[in-house]
Amino acid sequence: MKLFKNVNLYAPTSLGKADVLMASGRIAAVSLSGDAPIELRGIAGLETIDCQGMSMAPGFIDQHIHITGAGGKYGYGSMTPEVHVTDLIRCGTTSVVGLLGTDGTARSLNSLYAKCAALEAEGLSAWMLSSYFGFPPKTITSSVHDDLLFIDRVVGCKIALADVRSSYPTANQLLALLREIQVGGMISSKGGVLHIHLGALPEGMDMLFELVERYHVDIKRLSPTHVGRTAHLFEQAQRFVKLGGMVDLSTGGTQFRPPWEALAQAHEAGEDLRNYTLSSDGNAGIGILDAEGQLTGFKKAPIDLNLWNVQQILRETDVPAELALGLVTSGPARTMGLKRKGSLTLGMDADACIFDHQWNLSGVVSRGEIMMWDGDLRTEGNFPRA
Ligand SMILES: [Zn+2]
Repeated sequence: MKLFKNVNLYAPTSLGKADVLMASGRIAAVSLSGDAPIELRGIAGLETIDCQGMSMAPGFIDQHIHITGAGGKYGYGSMTPEVHVTDLIRCGTTSVVGLLGTDGTARSLNSLYAKCAALEAEGLSAWMLSSYFGFPPKTITSSVHDDLLFIDRVVGCKIALADVRSSYPTANQLLALLREIQVGGMISSKGGVLHIHLGALPEGMDMLFELVERYHVDIKRLSPTHVGRTAHLFEQAQRFVKLGGMVDLSTGGTQFRPPWEALAQAHEAGEDLRNYTLSSDGNAGIGILDAEGQLTGFKKAPIDLNLWNVQQILRETDVPAELALGLVTSGPARTMGLKRKGSLTLGMDADACIFDHQWNLSGVVSRGEIMMWDGDLRTEGNFPRA
């Protein structure tokens, strides 16, 4: 049991000075200024931590990260490695939604499931999406519908559109897939979402507008990502938001301008940033090309740029802190239907990021356990690095 005293609480709504009690991995009590203080006596193992001058936000959710590695676009040697739990902790990520990318064969959903379970065993929270870029979908059971029903960690399905590596599915194929997601999400009460990788082909989000405007698909079932890849995609994304949708920008992939700048400008133009999220696309495979376009090497997309982009917004713009923090907390929890994540209110999971007055990440709490404090890791994971 841990009592954090005198934090500036961003739940992510800004709630001012507060005391936060965490017990059994949940938020057990929150006392705001003016409330009766939390008084606890005689409880063995109670740890009281004074957080004067520090801010507390929900633990970050990375809703698009290649936890088992991705890549492989340039041969087997370009396949990227798995993420290490400490790399997630260091950037405040306490929950992930893992997924496959281009490759659904040398990479499998079975190993993705296992990696989710491994990250849970190491103290974080992890979910996954069925399928990969292609169509028909790859699944663990016989269908996306059944994956949602019977695989506890599956919260949706992935597909690629507007990309030369996609299967160019038709509207009818997507409608059939969305029916599986919708009904599977309803029966399992997970929500269910189709997460859409958008490539750089000029049609961009055209197919998604057709689904919503012509076929009246529930826009909340659609989760387009990489919308900051090109200026055209970002314009389409703003139109998608006006129809009631949520859109996701990648901090680690191709981008027409840094996501924090694009979002700050959108905020200034009157956009509601609660309809936008950030995800890392971490460990995606990236080819390094020379001036002639020849491949000279590979790298993996960084996983810590959600934190950096949020810090840039907090430090360099007039966007309210609660909106900046919502991009990686309440926003992705809503998109992915993660009911106990993304908010520091009573009964929610006790995942938190602690910041100093300059928004440096100082502490990380996951499921009630302190994983990092004063910038020092308190865990090395089950496989410490040499
Ligand atoms: Zn990706």
